[in-house]
Amino acid sequence: MRQDICTIPVSEVFEVKDGCPLCRMHKTVEEHIITYIMGDAMMESDVRIETNKIGFCPDHYEKMLGHNGRLQLSLMLGTHIDEIVNNLLKEGLSPQKLSQKCEEVKNRCFICEKINWGEERMINTILRLYENEEDFRNLFNSQPHFCFDHFTALVGKINKKTLKHHGEEMKKKLIAATKEYAATLSGKLNRYSYMYDYRKAGSKDFGDSRYSVEESISFLTAGEKGKTE
Ligand SMILES: [Zn+2]
Ligand SMILES: [Zn+2]
Repeated sequence: MRQDICTIPVSEVFEVKDGCPLCRMHKTVEEHIITYIMGDAMMESDVRIETNKIGFCPDHYEKMLGHNGRLQLSLMLGTHIDEIVNNLLKEGLSPQKLSQKCEEVKNRCFICEKINWGEERMINTILRLYENEEDFRNLFNSQPHFCFDHFTALVGKINKKTLKHHGEEMKKKLIAATKEYAATLSGKLNRYSYMYDYRKAGSKDFGDSRYSVEESISFLTAGEKGKTE
């Protein structure tokens, strides 16, 4: 599988200032991989060997179902199920071993693993650029917020080895931006619940709090629920 499908240029992602940059990165890479898997990847034996062996998670089966290419999906499912029949459902194994081997397959997903692989590399690039390039530092520092998941992922990577001179600056920026956004969400949630108050039942004006529940879940889970506007 071509590795460039699992990564995108980091600077491009940070030029946009709307939502969490790493969520944008995740979403774009995920779209690239799904398009690839439902198209060219059918012809690539190394990819098919992997998808036959590990399959996909429920979320990605759902996303593939919503994508063009039901024929490709049926072929992939067919050979994945054949692999389960031929390599897992064996009588010689103890029930515990059998269950353990099946769990291993159930817990894996070709798309999740490729996204994680790409994300790991892109996070390393972010740290390298932040340490060495002032222009990128400015781009990073002008981001409006980071979701809680990606805040956690980035903060966990800050150390003297990855960011010799600018670790403290990145940590401060991450905390300030995340705190400010969390406070904004909290305010919106308050206004939203206030609008539900029976005394306000007649009013339909939720204003900017309309999607506060979705936005808050997206913030907490690196999801896409806030993008309903
Ligand atoms: Zn995020
Ligand atoms: Zn997955």
